[in-house]
Amino acid sequence: MKILMASSEAVPYAKTGGLADMVSALSLSLAKLGHEVRIVIPRYYSVSRDKLEFLEGALGVPMGGQEEWSGVYTDILPGSPAKNPVRVYFIDHEIYFGRDGIYGTPAEPDFLDNPRRFAFFSRAVFQLCRKISWKPDIFHAHDWPAALVPVYHKYIERPGDFAGSASVITIHNLGYQGIYSRDNFSYLGLNWDVFYNAGFEDWSMMNLLKAGLYSADKINTVSPTYAEETKTQVQGFRLDGVLRYRSGDYRGILNGIDTDVWNPEKDTQIPAVYGIKNMAGKAKAKAELQKIYNLPQTPDVPLIGIVTRLTDQKGVGELFGPGYGSAWSICRDMNIQMVLLGSGEAWCEYELQSLSSRLSNFKARIGYSESLSHLIEAGSDFFLMPSRYEPCGLNQMYSLAYGTLPIVRSTGGLADTVENFNEDTGKGTGFMFDQLNPSSIYNTVGWAVWAYYNRRPQIEEMRLEGMKKDFSWEKSARKYTELYGECLGKKAQASKAQA
Ligand code: ADP
Repeated sequence: MKILMASSEAVPYAKTGGLADMVSALSLSLAKLGHEVRIVIPRYYSVSRDKLEFLEGALGVPMGGQEEWSGVYTDILPGSPAKNPVRVYFIDHEIYFGRDGIYGTPAEPDFLDNPRRFAFFSRAVFQLCRKISWKPDIFHAHDWPAALVPVYHKYIERPGDFAGSASVITIHNLGYQGIYSRDNFSYLGLNWDVFYNAGFEDWSMMNLLKAGLYSADKINTVSPTYAEETKTQVQGFRLDGVLRYRSGDYRGILNGIDTDVWNPEKDTQIPAVYGIKNMAGKAKAKAELQKIYNLPQTPDVPLIGIVTRLTDQKGVGELFGPGYGSAWSICRDMNIQMVLLGSGEAWCEYELQSLSSRLSNFKARIGYSESLSHLIEAGSDFFLMPSRYEPCGLNQMYSLAYGTLPIVRSTGGLADTVENFNEDTGKGTGFMFDQLNPSSIYNTVGWAVWAYYNRRPQIEEMRLEGMKKDFSWEKSARKYTELYGECLGKKAQASKAQA
């Protein structure tokens, strides 16, 4: 199949979160399975043009009654299979993308002209295909910034040159929908009837993701449980009705992890590699982690690690909220050590500093460090992730791969990847709770710590069980090919019905 990925992020070029990893990893895996994959992203200011190749000629993009022009650069995605490389195209437009920031800056977190920027980008995707004379079978759009791709496909391009193509949209986090004033609609170059027919209407606003969800042939999100949760009022971020309406075409496919980078048998960022047959390296990582965090190097005190963005989604209020969060009492009451790496909301960063100064067994580092996150995954006994919601989550999968037992709230991808400890059989790969509140975090951490001190053989067995799990991208990529296949089947049916 020919697959075009339209995304606002892709590693190694532009990244603010898991979306960037997913787009590149999935593309590479699909290419390894033999599919022809091309990625289109904007050429942000931070992406240097020096190493990219320029495609001759300008790209004209129709935008709200006038044509705008952009340049196109291209590159081969690093890590591509030699025989079937993944080509990346960069849409270059000085006014829209020649500035700091992907969606915004600290001073302006959501650029005012984002609907216009990403409308231009989405429309340019089709113009690019014309320019390079390449008709994809699947237009695969990711999140709200590319949500107009399925809309343009359905209302403009499918009746035209791209009749043979189908579209898929992936929801990476329903919390972000691209909601803007409807005054921006005129820039999109669509008739006003489409505003209502495609479902842009969102009370008095314009919702880009909602229109994408109505227009795409198939929809998916990044874990089966999150797909179910998003159809409920509690987790649906007001789009649960749309997702219930589209439920026949909506499913969850778990993300994979990069098993070359996140693999204790090959990891160059930990003191010694280790694996199921020889776990000695894990003890070394623990000692190193304790040293770095200035904690006593005691091998037999359970060490709990946390790597996270400090935002409400991750349950940091219930964990660190001043006066009510459970981290304080966990560290005060239990014979454990706790280390954290993260950055985010200012109140939380402040509170973490305060806790570090008041508790001898709690240490926090504010910042972002890829290598320290590897050491935390390897050196901890438990990994705490009490997310309010989690579309997929990577850290719990990294933990399992490193023999570190996740302590998680049973939600989204966490529920799909971790198996709760069963005291009677000793089976499981982690410790789980249902309700997000300080006392359930306290109780579940207490349960894990109890098992560490009283059920040590079972803990060691659980570690090995987790390390055996297959979270490779290949498995997920095969599920995406099935989804694409269904999409094309659906398209064929629709055209037969029309004929
Ligand atoms: P989300 O994408 O919602 O933040 P995920 O668990 O899916 O959560 O992915 C988070 C990724 O970002 C992981 O790879 C995690 O290790 C990494 N990460 C988050 N915060 C930091 C940090 N402060 N330093 C290093 N890596 C971090």
